[in-house]
Amino acid sequence: GVTDGTGGGSPLDDLASWQRPLRAQFPIIVAHPELAYLDNAATTQKPQAVLDAVQKYLTTSNANAGRGTYPWANATTALVERTRERVKGFLGDPAPDRSSVHFTAGTTDGLRTVARDWLTTLLTDGDEIVVPYADHQANLSPWLEARELLARQGVGIRVRELPCQATSGDYDPEALAELIGPRTRFVAATHVHHVYGSDMNVHRIRRVVGPDVPICLDAAQSVGHMPVSAAELDVDFVVFSGHKALALPGIGAIWARGTRGPRFRPGGWSGTPNTAGIAGLAAALDWLEAAGPDRIERWTAGLTSRLTDGLQRLDAYDVLGCRLSLAAEARAQRRTSIVTFRHREISSGDLGFILFSDGFMVRSDSHCQAGTSEKEESVRVSLHVHNTPEEIDGLLTTLASLQ
Ligand code: PLP
Repeated sequence: GVTDGTGGGSPLDDLASWQRPLRAQFPIIVAHPELAYLDNAATTQKPQAVLDAVQKYLTTSNANAGRGTYPWANATTALVERTRERVKGFLGDPAPDRSSVHFTAGTTDGLRTVARDWLTTLLTDGDEIVVPYADHQANLSPWLEARELLARQGVGIRVRELPCQATSGDYDPEALAELIGPRTRFVAATHVHHVYGSDMNVHRIRRVVGPDVPICLDAAQSVGHMPVSAAELDVDFVVFSGHKALALPGIGAIWARGTRGPRFRPGGWSGTPNTAGIAGLAAALDWLEAAGPDRIERWTAGLTSRLTDGLQRLDAYDVLGCRLSLAAEARAQRRTSIVTFRHREISSGDLGFILFSDGFMVRSDSHCQAGTSEKEESVRVSLHVHNTPEEIDGLLTTLASLQ
């Protein structure tokens, strides 16, 4: 029960003295007390430690990695290797000597790399893959593209939809069991939904598909927001973006279990990696680990409950996903740091502008959700450790004034 965000003994009260000094470490947040940054699912702000690490790297040992024999080159190579191990540790890798980490530009790039450099080499005529159709576009188009690429080579594969439960919105293991067959070669899933903020209960997929079907996890909305354990989730790939986990844009990683990784981008060290981004990523993971992903999750879940509870008292708004109007069911569904809603009369675009006139930065569009149209725009509030109950209360006051 981490979802009770109101009243005494709530996670927000318990964690207030832990949270305050952490907020103080975000320079852009501290510089703008008049604003509330509520768009952390799009990208996160950076703590001073990340900015310092990037500057330190660029001013003390900037060089190319994997080549050169002088100290700066060696330091850069060591940084890259150390950060690979850092990613493994952060993801709870149980066998780091048998896994690999490949740096990417972010989740979109990472999922595309898994699809093009690995999945297309694996599949043969008549194989089937199972992928999500209502999650982020970045976790659908690479798999559909893989089907196109293979079709051009005369290899026909079938792409099936990873089914969701009608009431709770997470994946439906029973419906999945019905469509798994001897030709199922791969499942792609999302850890936390980027519009509904729901934990998709990915850990249930392994039981259904058995030990041999690789599972690729889009962890863009979970890494940095909550503990993510590749071992507990029992997946083969974890793909995430640095910029959504307090690091810089342009850096991300694919963690790959066992021997799945080395086939990526044949040539290994060919191509210069984003070394400054890697320096920032290592610092971000250190910062997150010190802060405690479990506490970050409890804090943002407390804020999320405060916001959803407040919105449910306002008749003019509908909260999307997870059938939140069914309060009991919503409680049972673990929600993280995202709340998405619509005003019954004001368009979401207009609502975004109105909210910013009071200093609230939110996202208002269709959030790159696969299969949605402009008609389905909504306002998304997404939280991180620097957000406060006062920001949520202020937002609710503005929202109430628009009833
Ligand atoms: N997957 C999910 C669930 C996301 O929320 C996002 C970003 O919004 C992405 C993938 C794409 O991430 P990026 O833009 O960093 O490549």
